[in-house]
Amino acid sequence: MPIFEYLCQLCGKEFQYLVIRKEDEENLSCPRCKGKNFRKLVSRVAYHVSEQDRLAAYEPDAPRDDTFYKDTRNIGLQAKKRAHEMGVDLGSDFEAKLDRLRTDPEKVFDKSE
Ligand SMILES: [Zn+2]
Repeated sequence: MPIFEYLCQLCGKEFQYLVIRKEDEENLSCPRCKGKNFRKLVSRVAYHVSEQDRLAAYEPDAPRDDTFYKDTRNIGLQAKKRAHEMGVDLGSDFEAKLDRLRTDPEKVFDKSE
């Protein structure tokens, strides 16, 4: 889940906010002055958990909604988890493919390697 950082333009307070839906951001106000004039510090997106935590917490059978897949780092997680459990090393080629899938999904399958 991405946590965005904001800078209040009125009082200068920096605060973090966990944005789950677009509407969350629209209803956002500064925790100090309740102002609604702030700037998103885009470059400073932080995440709750590391990939290790994510792998550990991942439940293959748990129900999940769209947001799970909107976080592109979750792509391939199931395969990784399984591989971990079976003690299989997927190798760097798999990692490379996964990376491409995360960053540039269109290109993954039309490349002949
Ligand atoms: Zn403020």
